Amino acid sequence: MSAVTIRDLALDFVGATTVRALDGVDLEIGVGSSLALVGESGSGKSTLASVLGRMQPRSASVVRGEIRVAGIDVLALGTSALRRYRRDQLAYIAQDPIGSLDPTMRIGRQLQLVLRSTGQDASTSRQRALLEAMQIENPDRVLPLYPHQISGGMAQRVAIALAMCRKPRLLIADEPTAALDSQVREEVVRLMFEQARSLGTTILWLSHDLPAVARWCDEVAVMYAGRVVERGRAADVLGAPVHPYSRALAATDPSRVRRGDRLASIPGSPPVLHGESAGCAFSARCPVSVAACATTRPQPTSARSSLCIRTDELLRRDSEQRDQDQEVT
Ligand code: ATP
Ligand code: MG
Repeated sequence: MSAVTIRDLALDFVGATTVRALDGVDLEIGVGSSLALVGESGSGKSTLASVLGRMQPRSASVVRGEIRVAGIDVLALGTSALRRYRRDQLAYIAQDPIGSLDPTMRIGRQLQLVLRSTGQDASTSRQRALLEAMQIENPDRVLPLYPHQISGGMAQRVAIALAMCRKPRLLIADEPTAALDSQVREEVVRLMFEQARSLGTTILWLSHDLPAVARWCDEVAVMYAGRVVERGRAADVLGAPVHPYSRALAATDPSRVRRGDRLASIPGSPPVLHGESAGCAFSARCPVSVAACATTRPQPTSARSSLCIRTDELLRRDSEQRDQDQEVT
């Protein structure tokens, strides 16, 4: 059974010029598994994450497609059903840890309210236990503080505690560690995955940190210009990518790929679409594109749903190359 199913989802930001941010996304996440969404800045990761919780900006307009989370038709929900869906199914952790907490409320009070709203024991000892589970050593010191009085790493631990104490079916984490330094980052990611695994929570993790993705995630989906161009097991997609864009992504030094960066190995930048792309949006930058790539919209193929019309040909070339290498050695 899948926790999340997205079919042919297209979304525009409507303004002076219309921007096609999602251009036919297909994606599936299995119950209790973890999937990382990777791809250059502007590829549509945050937009996709926000529309899963129907939290997209007001200027966003869903053009077509379907989203199902635990069988629920997310795009069809009315106001009260949407509120229930968000409360019962979802938790969301944003990049900015302090900003994802309520600045006007003490940490303990925030935990208490979330616990109460889901009918759980909201006592101080339960609040303390939740912070201890996030390896916050002195919870009694932290509970009475306001968000601005704690460090970024501490705030992100609190945000995870708040998210996970509701036992969500689906955790969406939008680069939750991008603002943290590397030691704290590793620890926070570990705690997030351990908590989610112990609760059977499905994870959608938006990340630029490819080594951490390889370590923690079952699956990876690579986004480019509003489409998922390749998806599959993390070891396959990162270790032996099929789509030319995934190949370029995996070939970059992951430690250098940061929010807002261009990928050093691919000249040019991703296009901003104003409507459905006629062909492959990567064709202008692709080292192996042919004339047909600019005019033929690629459809998912069996090899990890790689959105490239040359997939079979490239795979054949790879295996010929391997044979040749073997003859030489
Ligand atoms: P990053 O890695 O930088 O977080 P991303 O993959 O999350 O990037 P999105 O933020 O989803 O990318 O943006 C996708 C596209 O939608 C981009 O072209 C972006 O400029 C556009 N976009 C995002 N938010 C808005 C908005 N509120 N109004 C108009 N356009 C937007
Ligand atoms: Mg983003």
